[in-house]
Amino acid sequence: MEKKVSPAKLLANIDIFANLDTRSIELIAQRMKLVRYKKDDIICNEGETGDRMFVIVGGEISVLKKGNDDSDIKITTLGPGEVAGVMSIFEKDVRSATLQAAETLELLVLDKDTFQEILKRNVEMANKLLAHLSRQLRAETYTVAKLLSGDVDKRMKIAFFDSKPYTKSVFTQNNKEHFSLHFFEPRLNVDTVSLSAGFQVVCAFVNDDLSARVLEQLKQNGVKLVAMRCAGYNNVDIDAAHKLGISITRVPAYSPNAVAEHAIALTLALNRKIYRAYNRVREGNFSLTGLVGSELYQKTAGVIGIGKIGKCLVQILSGFGMNILGYDKFQDGEFAEQHKLAYVSLNELFAAADVISLHAPLLPETYHIINKDSIQKMKPGVILVNTSRGALIDTSALINGLKSGKIGAAGLDVYEEEEEYFFEDLSDKIITDDTLARLMTFNNVIITGHQAFLTKEALSEIARVTLESIIRFEQGGRFRELPNAVLPKGEKEIKSRAGV
Ligand code: NAD
Repeated sequence: MEKKVSPAKLLANIDIFANLDTRSIELIAQRMKLVRYKKDDIICNEGETGDRMFVIVGGEISVLKKGNDDSDIKITTLGPGEVAGVMSIFEKDVRSATLQAAETLELLVLDKDTFQEILKRNVEMANKLLAHLSRQLRAETYTVAKLLSGDVDKRMKIAFFDSKPYTKSVFTQNNKEHFSLHFFEPRLNVDTVSLSAGFQVVCAFVNDDLSARVLEQLKQNGVKLVAMRCAGYNNVDIDAAHKLGISITRVPAYSPNAVAEHAIALTLALNRKIYRAYNRVREGNFSLTGLVGSELYQKTAGVIGIGKIGKCLVQILSGFGMNILGYDKFQDGEFAEQHKLAYVSLNELFAAADVISLHAPLLPETYHIINKDSIQKMKPGVILVNTSRGALIDTSALINGLKSGKIGAAGLDVYEEEEEYFFEDLSDKIITDDTLARLMTFNNVIITGHQAFLTKEALSEIARVTLESIIRFEQGGRFRELPNAVLPKGEKEIKSRAGV
């Protein structure tokens, strides 16, 4: 059972009470009330006056602020041991944010009147608090003096948007305190762009909005570089950025092995029905009926797109003893010879492959490369795996192929309309996309939420390459002088030293 921390221990860790003796802390702790909130309950609203301090015992609080369009934007999350509303026990204070229960919540609440009464009876305690506050004031004054004298943290500040716990941990580790990093949970858009004020560099991800409108605001806020911590940049208006004088960089490739290994994970899980076995055994059902798989040994794999990821996959598949067919617009004869890969036409690949894995980029000519016609040409029972881009597959045609049994199983890490869903916890929402909902009902489909890249090695490489570009920017590099710069059409990128 989880051991609960005592209220006194929680209070002792709060800065303002840190120099009080145990007896004083216990005196306050005894007067605090334990209050429970249900998920989504509002604890207090931004702008209203409050006279209660909250200490989180269990659960999490979402801290929300109003955006330009009056919608709530989650700024951060507070967890056990963290505190909100300290000033309101000294005098009624205007709430700077709305606090909402992110899950079932237990709070210790101290109200101003109770606290004032304790102070009146304990002059010594009041003096200690006053001394602590004075020391803090002196420290703050010193900081202001440093600021005024120019003797401040001179490190370049980077604002991360759409940041997740793994973003924070990997960038903090790779940064080695070189830059001053600030992690914001919200995605970048017109409502959240104000958070970029005071930053020269913004680090963004696949679902951030970098349209001309947002870029104009970034420029007004002093941003001069947008470092994309991903390969794709279809969400960036490159021409607008360059007109505004904002440089853009990206990470063209990180770990091709990560994606290839995920494609294998999907293939094996589907072929040997691991996901079904896992669920059965957890429920005490050890029946094997319906779990018959087939061996990959001497079967035929069809790999579409033999680039960095496709090549890693070919090497892994050859270890299984498979015959490997490949289709690519451009062929690498030397690699094919080394790895017993046979380049064939798309139609030949469709006709012969028992497993088809997609690794071509999304381009006008590859859009819906898997469609009604191509599915008709495939072997009955084929396993189809897509870890590349959702729109390589016409999802309606795939659903029909699954319904008819022509497609034996599908492993999908990407989906045509994934933007609205992937990367977020929507477990308490209704899925309104009927196509996605239908796909999720098949017992021979595994969907993962664009996680093929998500390995420690790939994240570390993304952080390293992104920071390398920002260091070059710090040294005075702009636009095409930056490693992995994204330039308006017609201009050539300069590859990073690492060649990624
Ligand atoms: P790459 O550029 O090294 O390889 C792509 C290959 O596709 C090249 O060999 C290219 O010649 C080939 N190609 C181009 N046009 C083609 C066409 N019309 N028909 C067939 N082949 C064609 O790229 P990569 O690093 O191997 O990445 C492949 C894809 O994987 C990317 O497009 C990306 O969208 C996707 N990806 C997914 C994830 C994930 O987490 N799911 C992560 C990284 C990359």
